[in-house]
Amino acid sequence: MATTEQTFGGTPRKVTAHLTQNEKLSFEISSPGKKAYRLPPLDVPEVDPSTLLGEAARESTGTLPELSEIEIIRHFTRLSTWNYAIDLGMYPLGSCTMKYNPRVNEFVSRLEGIAEAHPYQPESLSQGSLQIVKLLQDCLIEITGMDTITLQPAAGAHGEFTGILLARAYHQSKGNTRKNIIIPDSAHGTNPATAAVCGYQVINLKSNAQGGIDVAALEQMVNEDTAALMLTNPSTIGVFENQIHKIADILHAKGALLYMDGANMNALCGKTRPGDFGVDVMHLNLHKTFSTPHGGGGPGSGPVACKKILEPFLPIPVVEEGSDGQLHWNYNRPQSVGRVRAFYGNFGMFVRALAYTLANGPDGLRQTTEDAVLNANYIRKKLEDVYDLPYNTPSMHEVVFSDRRQVKNGIKTGDIAKRLIDYGFHPYTTAFPLIVPGALMIEPTESESREELDLFVDAMRQIAREADENPQLILNAPHSTRVSRLDETTAARKPILRWKAHPASTPLTPDDTPAKEW
Ligand SMILES: *Cc1c(COP(=O)(O)O)cnc(C)c1O
Repeated sequence: MATTEQTFGGTPRKVTAHLTQNEKLSFEISSPGKKAYRLPPLDVPEVDPSTLLGEAARESTGTLPELSEIEIIRHFTRLSTWNYAIDLGMYPLGSCTMKYNPRVNEFVSRLEGIAEAHPYQPESLSQGSLQIVKLLQDCLIEITGMDTITLQPAAGAHGEFTGILLARAYHQSKGNTRKNIIIPDSAHGTNPATAAVCGYQVINLKSNAQGGIDVAALEQMVNEDTAALMLTNPSTIGVFENQIHKIADILHAKGALLYMDGANMNALCGKTRPGDFGVDVMHLNLHKTFSTPHGGGGPGSGPVACKKILEPFLPIPVVEEGSDGQLHWNYNRPQSVGRVRAFYGNFGMFVRALAYTLANGPDGLRQTTEDAVLNANYIRKKLEDVYDLPYNTPSMHEVVFSDRRQVKNGIKTGDIAKRLIDYGFHPYTTAFPLIVPGALMIEPTESESREELDLFVDAMRQIAREADENPQLILNAPHSTRVSRLDETTAARKPILRWKAHPASTPLTPDDTPAKEW
């Protein structure tokens, strides 16, 4: 792929042009009779599908694209060049911890005995897989300082749901039905959504001037109706909650629990442990902190670690060592909240997270945390004279600027993010957290070298200059992509998830969007 040496606004761009700007849908390049596979002659008797499937058997497969093998390979390979990925460059999407997915994780997860293991395999033949589960559990318990864990939830939000179900079951077992969950205004949107889905009223807690918990306000708020506080630490502005012990004491004094959203554990791993600072239940995102693929490559994994008091309620099954020295799944747990996912969770992600943890070891994990924090602070120092820093509390693994200085030229955080694409970077997180109007939330992670950070800093500084000298350049960005500004609201609210064949008499034209039919 040739690097384009084109310039925009006088600066060389890091981006490479897309291989093709006009890839048709596979349906549109289809021609009847083509096949991308070749099967050997049938050597067993042919069976009528309806004898196997009954009424579920379909006579027609509908219209499917028909392409040769090389056509379909080229189609998807070309499409893949439209994607941005951590394997292409820095992905500073704040709060998401888009770190490198080490190749050793992929190597280990593809070993035959692991990749081909089946969830219905008898336990006696699954001891290796069960040991992977057990060892990862033990590592995560050690890292978080908690007493026990479930690996079942399939994402961070799913972990929150599971954790709050545990809290609810705990309160119910004590005969009380507490009604409220307190959530700071800086929280990730999944926190209030989780509380509501679990049947709780959400009480909003305003952040203090440093962006942390207003401890006096919290003390006023907590009472016998409070089930829990859901707290992200470090917070979504990348600030460590330095009153965390006090906060835990306030909750515990009223019989409430402290839930920690552990999505930001990349700032704490190997340095401090939530279990030691009063947290009762928390989730981890293996696809953030523990280097498993995040985004298109998923799936995710959101283990929930908790204290002993919540152990009886853990989802079934839980892995246990029997008197025979073998590992078993225990389903006989009468107080369990039940299953939260089919089988045992996203096992392939456990393998990758364990490979990452063991490859780093305790010192490596600590170094990772220190490097992540150093990188965020390097960016903060290099950009704070050109972008507004609304909270100057020390940053942990991410830094949040605002667009206050650029807004006077009509340029908002989203515009700066679009322009960053022209410089070859994935945008940072825009307009979140909500307590910072016009937020630019930047999380480099430990994966980035000094050289890559400097390229990013140069791009951001150049954009700040453009904002003063040529705002229109930014407002029309991105200039380097196949499509420029999209209608994001319509894309989110009315996604077109299916392609429908047009009758042969009305061939597709470029203006003829199949979307109209849906
Ligand atoms: C990413 C994130 C979540 C949700 O995790 P998912 O795996 O995307 O469901 C929750 N809280 C915070 C602070 C996060 O950054």
